[in-house]
Amino acid sequence: MQHLCKLMVLLIQGIKSISRIIITLVLLLLFIISIQYYHTEIYKKQPSLPFSGNHFYNPYQDYLPNPVKANFHAHSTTHFKITNGAQSPVEIFKAYTDSGYQVASLSNYQSITNNPLTENYIPVYEHGFSISKYHQLIINAKSVSFFDFVLFQNHHQKQQILKRLKTNNNLVALAHPALNNAVTSNDLKYLRGYDLMEVYTGYSPTSRLWDAALSAGYPIWLLANDDTHNIYKPNDAFRRWNRIYSNESTKNGIVGALAKGCHYGVSNTGSANDINRLDSCTVNNGLVKVYFRQTADSIRFITDNGIVSKHIIKASEAEYSMLTSNTYVRIDAYTATESIILNPVIRYNGKKLRDNLDFPPVDLFKTALYRFLVLIVNTIIVIIILALNGKIRLVGKFPRVVVNVGRWKLAI
Ligand SMILES: [Zn+2]
Ligand SMILES: [Zn+2]
Repeated sequence: MQHLCKLMVLLIQGIKSISRIIITLVLLLLFIISIQYYHTEIYKKQPSLPFSGNHFYNPYQDYLPNPVKANFHAHSTTHFKITNGAQSPVEIFKAYTDSGYQVASLSNYQSITNNPLTENYIPVYEHGFSISKYHQLIINAKSVSFFDFVLFQNHHQKQQILKRLKTNNNLVALAHPALNNAVTSNDLKYLRGYDLMEVYTGYSPTSRLWDAALSAGYPIWLLANDDTHNIYKPNDAFRRWNRIYSNESTKNGIVGALAKGCHYGVSNTGSANDINRLDSCTVNNGLVKVYFRQTADSIRFITDNGIVSKHIIKASEAEYSMLTSNTYVRIDAYTATESIILNPVIRYNGKKLRDNLDFPPVDLFKTALYRFLVLIVNTIIVIIILALNGKIRLVGKFPRVVVNVGRWKLAI
C-alpha cells in the first residue's frame, strides 16, 4: 500500500512536470511566432469610391476569338517531396498540354518550379503559410517572399502582405479567397495592391467577394483555376481554365493581356473541352453587347452588389444598356455543364483605371501603439514562463516578485 502511494505520488509529479514542459514549449513557440507581429503596419483606411465617369472601360476591346487556354494553379511534387502535389512537374505539364492548354503554370507553395522546355513559361508560386489559408498566387514571379503572419491576420496585416508581394512586373491574385473565410467582403472594401481574384476554384465560388471588391470601386479581374493536387483525381484537374487573348503568344503578351482583363473564365463540371466560346464583347455609349459562338441556356448581366439586372434564356447574343446607377456590369453564360464568366465593363474617366501600387498610407501612431501592445503580450508570456518554472515567486508580507536566474537573484 505504501509503495502504491509512493508510485502514485511519483506518477502525479511526473505528469505535472511533463505538463509544465509542454506548456513552456507552447508558450516559447507563441513567443517566437509573435515576434513577426512587431513588423505590423497599421494603415489609414481609404474610403471606398465606386467607379464613376462617362467613359466605359471594356477589357475586351482588343479581343479576338482565338484565345489561349491557361491554368495558373497546380501543385506538383518538389525535389523535397514535401508539398502535397501527387505528380512530377513533367507529368503535369504533359497532361495539361495533352488537354489543350497552351499555358500550364505550376504554383507550388513558396517555391517557383520552372519548365525548362518552354521558353514562354510563366513562373508562378503560391504564397502563404498562415493557419487562415490567406493565399496569393504570384504570377510572373521572379523571387519568393516568406513574409507572412502565421497565427492571425487582421485587415492591416492582409494589406501589408500584398504590399510586400506586389511589384511593377508581377500580377498578384487572391487564391481561393472564400476558403476558411480568409478574405471577407469587408476586407475587400479596403484592400489594395492586387490584380486578380480566383472566382472559379475547386472550393466554394467567390463571385460574391468579387462583386464586393468591384462595388467598392476596386477594378480586379477574375481567374478560373484548377488548384489541382492530383491530376488523376476526378474533377480535380482540367475542369476550370482561363481563355486569354493576346496578339502575341509570348510570356509578356499573355501577362499583359491578363493585366488588362482581356480574358474570361470557364468552369465545366463534365468535360475538359469548351462547349461555348466568347466571340466578342463591345461597348458603345454604355450599351454592352455580347456574342457567343453557341446558343447559351442563359446569359446574365450582373451589376453593383451582384444584382442580376438582366437574364436572357436560350440566346447566343445579348445586350444591356448600363443605367447611371450601374458602376460596372459583368456577364456570365451557362451552356449545359459549362459556365463562362466575363470580366466587368467599368465606368471610368477615360484615362487610367487604377494605380496598382497605390497603397494606403501608414498610420504611424497606431502602428507604434500596436507594436507596444505586442511588447506587453510578449512580456506577459515571459513572466508566465518564468513563474511556471519557479523563477518567479511572491515573498514577504506584500506581493513582491523575486526572479532567480542562475545564481543571480533579482527583487522587483
Ligand atoms: Zn492555397
Ligand atoms: Zn494551391
